[in-house]
Amino acid sequence: MRNKTKNFYYGNVGIGSDFPVTVQSMTNTDTRDIKETVSQIKLLEEVGCDIIRLAVPDMEAALALEKIKKQVNIPIIADIHFDYKLALQAIEGGVNGLRINPGNIGDKQRVKEIVNRCKEKDIPIRIGVNSGSIKKEFLEKYGGVNVNSMVESAMEHVRILEEMNFKKIVLSVKSTDIHMTIESYEKLSQIVDYPLHIGITESGSLWKGTIKSSIGIGSLLAKGIGDTIRVSLTGSPIEEVKVGKQILRSLGLLNDRIEVISCPTCGRTRIALEKIVSEVEQKIEHMNKSIKVAIMGCEVNGPGEAKEADIGIAGGNGLGLIFKKGKVIKKVEENKLIDELVKEIEKL
Ligand code: SF4
Repeated sequence: MRNKTKNFYYGNVGIGSDFPVTVQSMTNTDTRDIKETVSQIKLLEEVGCDIIRLAVPDMEAALALEKIKKQVNIPIIADIHFDYKLALQAIEGGVNGLRINPGNIGDKQRVKEIVNRCKEKDIPIRIGVNSGSIKKEFLEKYGGVNVNSMVESAMEHVRILEEMNFKKIVLSVKSTDIHMTIESYEKLSQIVDYPLHIGITESGSLWKGTIKSSIGIGSLLAKGIGDTIRVSLTGSPIEEVKVGKQILRSLGLLNDRIEVISCPTCGRTRIALEKIVSEVEQKIEHMNKSIKVAIMGCEVNGPGEAKEADIGIAGGNGLGLIFKKGKVIKKVEENKLIDELVKEIEKL
């Protein structure tokens, strides 16, 4: 059951509990390099990225946003630290959201200018607190980096925006520590009903970071917490999106692909199951069907274990059985198994 949160839009993409959980990422090109940045966003769109965030370190980058925005389809969020002029320019350039912590801008009048422009343009602001950037005051008050200092730090920024009657707020409280991240989001979700952007910050390289992010993000989503996710990997943002989409699919929050169930193989396996699974996955990748396909190593347990699958195969010695809803419909030689299975999937 999803936690109830406020609903609004980044461009044409909804955020909040009435909308599906979205996957976002951040470009790692130099934002000033318009061509490279647009080309990376296009690749991200192809793998299903819903929202993209761009670093805006200086005015040249802020000025590039308008040109980038015109060439891409997904909403753009400008990631800005400290400098209110960059935020104003980004808004002028047509971005669909800001990531900025109002407490770091200093002068309230400058914050007000940003808030007023965001109100006029209907642009949400994400407040993003990371374990590495908590204010000294909160570190001292709460005894270091912990759930209380993270949440209180976020709430200080929230109060600045609320005082200006701004409510299109998205929040994140990310740590590299999974437990601290989960507890911080749990606490935050009890205090506010703003949409939550969830993720484990700096989670590492592709393999380790995928596992860490899946545990952290997955645990929160399983509790109904989280409205948009970002997998943070040292590497390509394309991989971040692929992992993010797969986290949603694994939790049944996204049904845009065929789900493949395959057995781990054991001493009973007499066919090249790993190769079959990988080839079938490649051949059906483009198919937009909401079905389950089971690929099991043996006929002893295969069809029975995979009864809930719509279709599948159970390997034998040099052959395989094709079954539908647990009932065998065909016996096929191993070298024809993949093609026959794919043909049957196409019919569904
Ligand atoms: S389905 Fe058969 S081959 Fe696969 S793990 Fe189970 S018993 Fe082993």
